[in-house]
Amino acid sequence: MSPGGALPDLRSLARPELAALVGELGEKPFRARQLFRWLHRNGAATLDEMTDLSRPLRAALAARTSLMTLERATEQRSVDGTIKWTWRTGDGKLIESVYMPETDRKTLCVSSQVGCALGCTFCMTGTMGLARNLTPGEIVDQVHRANRRLVELGEGPAPRPLTNLVFMGMGEPLHNFDRVKAALELLLDEDGPNFSHRHVTVSTSGLVPVMRRLGEETQVKLAVSLNATTDAQRDLLMPINRRWPIGELLAACRSFPMKQGRRITFEYVLLGGVNDTDADALRLSRLVAGIPAKVNLIPYNDNPGLGFQAPAPERVEAFHRILFDRNITAVIRKNRGADIAAACGQLAAVGATGGPRRPAAPGQGAVTLTDPGGLGY
Ligand code: SF4
Repeated sequence: MSPGGALPDLRSLARPELAALVGELGEKPFRARQLFRWLHRNGAATLDEMTDLSRPLRAALAARTSLMTLERATEQRSVDGTIKWTWRTGDGKLIESVYMPETDRKTLCVSSQVGCALGCTFCMTGTMGLARNLTPGEIVDQVHRANRRLVELGEGPAPRPLTNLVFMGMGEPLHNFDRVKAALELLLDEDGPNFSHRHVTVSTSGLVPVMRRLGEETQVKLAVSLNATTDAQRDLLMPINRRWPIGELLAACRSFPMKQGRRITFEYVLLGGVNDTDADALRLSRLVAGIPAKVNLIPYNDNPGLGFQAPAPERVEAFHRILFDRNITAVIRKNRGADIAAACGQLAAVGATGGPRRPAAPGQGAVTLTDPGGLGY
């Protein structure tokens, strides 16, 4: 269903639902496959594009359903090739996706919610509060609109220049798990964009009860946004830690149902003078020891008003060296798109939830989590 509308959104329907609908309209089953391919392989923006479906069928679909297509509101291009898009949803909300080209991959960072309820104090999205969950159609359409635009820009061949997806944009994906899972099924479908589950990563700030579901019900990769090595420190940076502290989070990582050869990615945003000391690096190496894992070290990007600083470059190097010396696989992530506020923690579409709230002071993050997903906290 579209967020405010009465008609079901074609883009959000699972394949069996689409097949049932086409059957109800008296059409042969192969029409459902054609329709699915138009929606999710070609990323059709309108029913009119679906020229090999009969006019009566398109008219019947138009009468019984809606077709949600995101509107491109802004496009900002970084000197490093990163592109940030702001999309407008059918009800006027703004969400963002970020394209990050590298030599061996073309990755889109996808949003899963309008804003975020979790209030991490270093994150611009966290200052906005949560407006609503995105629908499966709104999640997958970020990928479709990006693919189409990238073809126009000569970034790769139709229908899918993108090779990888990361759910690290606005929102906590596991706080909207059922819709994210429905979106993943559409994105991995061989008649849709046909992404490999090896090339799709879902990130969480530590919604421990839902992590297991992600592992059991999907085959995509897991990233955990860790960012601190003591509970006292993580409580201040990520209020969710007060509900599921580091010990419980890492226990969930150790028991995460993972395919052979897979690793969990731990994201660690280095905040100058806060979590970038040698002692932090040593604790981090002990915390992740024994977990098949890699650590992404992400030097913080300055965000006006949030009260944190970028780490000194020599601190980043020293932190990395300590992990390396203890046989922890760690990479220093390049600062991508910082000039267009597209880097990690900088996504905050102005107007998405009525504009960013006044940023929380460090250590005063929101501790009351709303629970629209019925997750029981
Ligand atoms: S870091 Fe992620 S979970 Fe935390 S507030 Fe930002 S978007 Fe939400």
